[in-house]
Amino acid sequence: MADARYDVVVIGAGILGLAAAREILARRPGTRVAVLEKEASIAGHQTGRNSGVIHTGIYYAPGSLKARLCVAGSRALYEYSERHGIPTERCGKLIVAVDEAELPGLETLYRRGFENGVAGLEMVGPDRIRELEPHGVGLRAILSPGTGIVDFSRVAAAMAAEITAAGADVLTGHEVDRLEDRVGIERPGPSDVGPNLLETGDRHLRSELPRNRPAGLPTPDDAKVLLEVAPIDLFPQTYHTEVVCTLRHSP
Ligand SMILES: Cc1cc2nc3c(=O)[nH]c(=O)nc-3n(C[C@H](O)[C@H](O)[C@H](O)COP(=O)(O)OP(=O)(O)OC[C@H]3O[C@@H](n4cnc5c(N)ncnc54)[C@H](O)[C@@H]3O)c2cc1C
Repeated sequence: MADARYDVVVIGAGILGLAAAREILARRPGTRVAVLEKEASIAGHQTGRNSGVIHTGIYYAPGSLKARLCVAGSRALYEYSERHGIPTERCGKLIVAVDEAELPGLETLYRRGFENGVAGLEMVGPDRIRELEPHGVGLRAILSPGTGIVDFSRVAAAMAAEITAAGADVLTGHEVDRLEDRVGIERPGPSDVGPNLLETGDRHLRSELPRNRPAGLPTPDDAKVLLEVAPIDLFPQTYHTEVVCTLRHSP
């Protein structure tokens, strides 16, 4: 950890944390970024265990941020996957009304989809439903041909590789225990822990690894690492955030 001095620390290496780190590096190349992940590997929670659906943006209220982001995100995800050799399948989706009572809701969704700019939506009847899905039974259905599937673990892995190549550290086995905002930077004092403080200008990192333990070789139980993160102009100027994390295992 001796070289670990960061401008931005992202907590959590799910798809959001990795995508946020990627965006920061795209906007400001050279930013020193770390992504801290408590598990031994990335994408082990929602990202790696979800249904793998690339949603098109049918459900969200027209004009909402969710609607706009979902429509744009679907396109971006297909493009990203193609660029990185990650297979996707545009298998399409049927949203089926199985009785009369569900028809008004289906109509509402259909209109929403159009208003949100979802491409290729079609309202289909029972024959077309059966043709598309032999086990499907219903009165009517919205066919969303742009809905697809992808393995989000692979997307996360590609993002992790990208940000690592751009200079970021993705640190697994780092659980953040506490966050502390405080103004200014504490000066190092006498201490029985080391390597103490690493400073570059107004940024520094303090480690509580015992002095007699070679840096970078913490044991799972006793190592505590304090990362002090100085703000860059993406964030409010006055606060330094102290991130305290426990190493669950040797990185
Ligand atoms: C059952 C299910 C199915 C879904 N299906 C789909 C789908 O088909 N399509 C779709 O687009 N979306 C789907 N989603 C939603 C999607 O998976 C999530 O929106 C997305 O994965 C969230 O990403 P995340 O990075 O916020 O969370 P996560 O992937 O959960 O990542 C958070 C990470 O933070 C880490 N972490 C937590 N606390 C700490 C800490 N203190 N210190 C360090 N690290 C920490 C965790 O270990 C974890 O790796 C589904 C969600 C669920 C639950």
